[in-house]
Amino acid sequence: MPKPSAHLAKLPPYLFAEVDKKIDAARAAGVDIISLAIGDPDLPTPSFVVDSLCAAVKDPETHNYAPYHGTKPFRDAVTSWMKTRFGVSVDPEKEVLALIGSKEGLAHMILAYINPGDVVLCPSPGYPVYNNYTLLCGGEPYTMPMEAADGFLPDLKAIPPDIARRAKLMFLNYPNNPTGAIATEGFIKECVEFCRNNDILLCHDNAYSEMTFDGYRAPSFLGVPGAAEVCVEFFSLSKMYNMTGWRVGFAVGNAAGLKALGTVKNNTDSGVFKAIQRAAAAALGRSDELTAGLNKIYGHRRDIAVEGLRALGWDFKPNVATFYLWVPVPPGMKSTEFSAMLLEKCAVIVAPGLGYGPAGEGYFRIALTVPEERLREALKRLETAGIRWTMTQAPEKRAAG
Ligand SMILES: *Cc1c(COP(=O)(O)O)cnc(C)c1O
Repeated sequence: MPKPSAHLAKLPPYLFAEVDKKIDAARAAGVDIISLAIGDPDLPTPSFVVDSLCAAVKDPETHNYAPYHGTKPFRDAVTSWMKTRFGVSVDPEKEVLALIGSKEGLAHMILAYINPGDVVLCPSPGYPVYNNYTLLCGGEPYTMPMEAADGFLPDLKAIPPDIARRAKLMFLNYPNNPTGAIATEGFIKECVEFCRNNDILLCHDNAYSEMTFDGYRAPSFLGVPGAAEVCVEFFSLSKMYNMTGWRVGFAVGNAAGLKALGTVKNNTDSGVFKAIQRAAAAALGRSDELTAGLNKIYGHRRDIAVEGLRALGWDFKPNVATFYLWVPVPPGMKSTEFSAMLLEKCAVIVAPGLGYGPAGEGYFRIALTVPEERLREALKRLETAGIRWTMTQAPEKRAAG
């Protein structure tokens, strides 16, 4: 066999192979594992969306190739959703592109812009695609660390001028995975200004725009005046409407950016199944109704988790967006040690912060993707095992590290 490319060899090592083995072994031994590690909704897709797909599948008009940039009704549904939801006007012909889930769009945007040696500004902690696909394209990821003290917003003034000059893309994601942080209007304006001054395409991953609580409504970056000149925004139906397996999303905004992305896609894939686009358009048409119900459920789970962790000594401010909690690991422990300990002592899986980049160390991520009673059970197991923010009885792993 030939050797895979040098780009592939540059990807960071997969850190969790050992943990995965332990999880598999425990599952095989019949241990009742509660996984709070996966950002994949546990609830089904709303039934009217499923019905809409079933009807669409029976129409032979949906059976052939879809237009590359999306069907007209899908692009129109996106256009009117952007208008009613954010007050943002986009041209359905040039400023909307259907995606096979937002992940491929984010990755292909990098392929569309990055020559070997070009810089991509990537947040850390962050969704791994930005960093890793940059490496696959021979580009140079530049890490923008995000700190709790700054509300997990990167400090743009800390980016060296020569890096800013060489950068072609900047990735941001608010509401944020994994931290649950949100962007202020001032910060969005600062990003638009920074990207305009440095000739950078701002790629905003808005996968969690609809998953918000306590009355908070997340903005579109395109709502900032002038943003469309420098920004493409990526949306996904995956987390919004429990549709991760369906693979449908869209990109909106800067026409030149979308044209470049569309050219990569023309040469890579052949569009989203038309029946899925019909169902996706139906979902977008009843968006607020769908997300209101889901946010009530996630908000309630968040409250249970926050309350449970507080009872165990954790002190932190609950986030108002995303189905994640980004929680500091007890003092003196590494994130991988802490998650290994939870698995071993409680059969509870959480995601160690290190998996989201070096700046993720010191945290773990809980995904609120299990029913309430499983969440309560997980918290009870922590309590029973004596796992607290400050552990009076040091676990063996801690003593060793
Ligand atoms: C889940 C997720 C995505 C990918 O969503 P798909 O549309 O399913 O590809 C993109 N960005 C972030 C931050 C995510 O958490």
